[in-house]
Amino acid sequence: MRLPRKIERILRRIRTQMRPTPHNVVIDERAETSYSDIENRVIGLSKNQLDELDWIYRHEIMHLDKYPRTISNEIIWQVKIANMLSDEDRSLFRKLRHLVINMAEDSVIDYYIGLRYKSARKYIKKYVENLPKEIKSDPPCHEGARMIVAGVADYPILENWLKDKNIIMIGLDAFYWLKKHQEGEYKSDTRGKPSREDYEKAAGQLITEGENIIPLYEFSVDDNVEFDLEKASLIALTKRYEWYISAIMEKERTKGYMSRQGVWIPGDEPSKLNVYASLLQYNKIIPGLTAIKRDTSRIIGWTEPSGYRDVAILVDESGSMRDKEKATRMVGISLLAWFNRWRIQYQIIGFGSSPFLRAALGFDYTGGVRYFSMYYRAWGNDTRLAPALNMLKGRNMLLYVISDAKIYDLNKVAEYKSRIKEVVLVLINKDKKYREFTKAFKGVTVRGYWLNPEEIDKFIIQELEKLH
Ligand SMILES: [Zn+2]
Repeated sequence: MRLPRKIERILRRIRTQMRPTPHNVVIDERAETSYSDIENRVIGLSKNQLDELDWIYRHEIMHLDKYPRTISNEIIWQVKIANMLSDEDRSLFRKLRHLVINMAEDSVIDYYIGLRYKSARKYIKKYVENLPKEIKSDPPCHEGARMIVAGVADYPILENWLKDKNIIMIGLDAFYWLKKHQEGEYKSDTRGKPSREDYEKAAGQLITEGENIIPLYEFSVDDNVEFDLEKASLIALTKRYEWYISAIMEKERTKGYMSRQGVWIPGDEPSKLNVYASLLQYNKIIPGLTAIKRDTSRIIGWTEPSGYRDVAILVDESGSMRDKEKATRMVGISLLAWFNRWRIQYQIIGFGSSPFLRAALGFDYTGGVRYFSMYYRAWGNDTRLAPALNMLKGRNMLLYVISDAKIYDLNKVAEYKSRIKEVVLVLINKDKKYREFTKAFKGVTVRGYWLNPEEIDKFIIQELEKLH
């Protein structure tokens, strides 16, 4: 039906203030409450809510423009929350995930528009006044956010999350509330069916961030969507590589200039001009200015491996790595992004109580991505490295060891030294204890990086002073 003039006027006024992205508005005769259809970019206004458009229309615009904006964003948030839950809770979350995310989004949205628009706050206040007593005494996050805005309650922890727009923590809170009050009758006000592309995009992003993507599979089964992990893996590898490049550029920017040695100038060897990296940063290659030299030493924390032939990643799968799984995945994916870009032959061996071949020597980069994003687990109850070294294939090897360096058979490591050219210890550990490790490989060059697992989201790789 055509929108009445009076309504049209209110909508136009709100649009002028909020400048939303293009969408259609319909009055949905059958809808009990208004909604945002993210897939088709339609806002459906319920007949029952036409006299509080200053709240409702703004609210639905926010769903369309920010929370979630895309269906793949919702999937990403859902997987991140699932990865924080126990197995038992995860199966309940699988049923509640849409609602959980919607409650978190509603919280952030109403907190924002309630503070920002007086006309919206008026309706939120009225709504809060009419909330049932039992809700007011133990509100779910979205009602809590409205109560904060209305000025009738103080929830400092929730308010901090709201200020940070922390959908994950608010969602976790929403889940536990729903688990406790299973009789809750909330309904989601966002619609849209996820597509294969939504899943692939979400998978690519989640892999890049070091998330376990098993929950994503479970959700795709529930949504009846099949997606191509191969494609998602390639998206992740490219994204991670781009991250490297932008990290370098950021460093250069903060220094205020590009270091001379990083810039390709006429006269330098043509093979050293890194066209790909140059074009990633600038849309034009100007020698001496925007031309980046093919020189891996400029990557933060990494120096160009020299003289090796094959590469191996040895991944610590012992139980002591349990709180470092995400960090390990990120390191692994980052190395793979690097190998993929430079076509480096590699293998992965997991070590713990016993060694497992996780990726055979070769060029199957997405196979490595699959291992890290789906199968990597810290589960072993012993940490022995020597049996893993015994499984190595290849010569003149560059060896990456991702571990917390709590290794119990370092005395046996020496016999495998002859095939190893260089060892890079990627130490994920709070205390920087690595001396014994270095001693065990005596005679082989050992370089080390120390990663603080708590700062892994920033993924600041710090190069340690040379360990030997
Ligand atoms: Zn909503």
